[in-house]
Amino acid sequence: MRGVRRLEEVACLSVHPAPRQPECEPLQWLPPQPVGVVAYTCGCRNVSYELCHVNGQAFVRRTVRLADGHVIEETHRMPIHKAREFWERLLRGEIQ
Ligand SMILES: [Zn+2]
Repeated sequence: MRGVRRLEEVACLSVHPAPRQPECEPLQWLPPQPVGVVAYTCGCRNVSYELCHVNGQAFVRRTVRLADGHVIEETHRMPIHKAREFWERLLRGEIQ
């Protein structure tokens, strides 16, 4: 439904990943480290993502908001172009 946005998304400033697709593949998530964030999804949802660069490599960080705090995990490091591919696939709901 192109052009139709849910009410919650009208006020959002950032992108949302699509719902999990039938062939969605699981990523391996690791503990976080200090890095540069170059892209991120909207923080209005309980699960948000950041595309991070560090030392010429990149990875995706996932933050899961819980009732008593949050859990942050990261994918393995990879070349920046590969991480960008992961990021685009994640936004399309092809991986989570
Ligand atoms: Zn939002």
